[in-house]
Amino acid sequence: MKRIVIKVGSAVLTENNKIAKERMLNLVSLIASLRKSYEIILVTSGAVAAGYSALKLDKSKQISKKAIAAAGQPILMSSYKKKFDIYNIDTAQILLTEDDFDSRKRTKMFQDIINTHLDNNIVPIVNENDITATPEELFGDNDQLSAYVAHSTNAELLVILSDIDGYYDKNPTEYKDAKIFKTITKLPKNALIGEATPNNTFATGGIITKLKAADFLMQRGRKMLLCNGFDLDSAKSFLLKGEHTLGTLFMSE
Ligand code: GLU
Repeated sequence: MKRIVIKVGSAVLTENNKIAKERMLNLVSLIASLRKSYEIILVTSGAVAAGYSALKLDKSKQISKKAIAAAGQPILMSSYKKKFDIYNIDTAQILLTEDDFDSRKRTKMFQDIINTHLDNNIVPIVNENDITATPEELFGDNDQLSAYVAHSTNAELLVILSDIDGYYDKNPTEYKDAKIFKTITKLPKNALIGEATPNNTFATGGIITKLKAADFLMQRGRKMLLCNGFDLDSAKSFLLKGEHTLGTLFMSE
C-alpha cells in the first residue's frame, strides 16, 4: 500500500485561538476515507494554539511557549481522539526533535515504532517535541519536520494542508493577478531566501518553510503537494481520484 504523510498547520486547525473542531473533523474524515488506499502518517501542529486556551502566557518567551505547548498537547490529542473515535480509528502520539533524525539509532527507533503502528492500523500523529527540545534541536516549524518524516518513513508523497491554495508566482494577498504554479520541478532562483512568513498568530511557517520542505523532498526523489486545508476538495480529488485540480505538486524531473 502507498504511504503518505499529511501535514496540517495551526492556521488550518485554529480559529479564534481555539481548535477549529469542524475543520479537524473534516480532516479526520478525509483520513478515514483515504485509509482504504493509503498508509497515513499525520503530522500536526496546534499544541501551542490549543494550550493557549488554557494558559495565556506570552508565547514569545521560550519557557512560556514550552509551558503552553505542554498544556496544549493533551488538549490537541484528546480533540483528535474524539474525532478518530467516530470512525473507530486508533491513534498514537509521536513527538520528535531534529536530533531524532541525526542519529541513525534514534531514527531507526521511531521508524520501527511508526511501522508497528501502521501494521496495526493505528494512525501515528507526529508533532515536534516543543517541550524538552533545546532551541538547537528544534525544527521550529512542522513543514520541515513533515518533510523529514516523509523521507525517513519512505513515504512517496507529503501533502501539506495550508491556508493557501498552492504556490503562487507572486504574493496573492498583494497581487490580484498572482498565478498558481500547478507543478514545480525546479524551484525559482532565490525561492528559499527570506524569513518565515506565517499568516496566523499561531503558525510558525509561511511559504518559505514549505518551499524548503519541497526542496528537501525533491532532492531525494519524493513528491509534495501543497494545497488548501480549509477546503479539502483539491486534496480529495488528488488522492482519491488521481485528479490534480488545485494545489501545487512539487516533484523532481
Ligand atoms: N509544534 C508546534 C505546535 O504544535 C507548531 C509548529 C508549527 O507551527 O509548524 O504548536
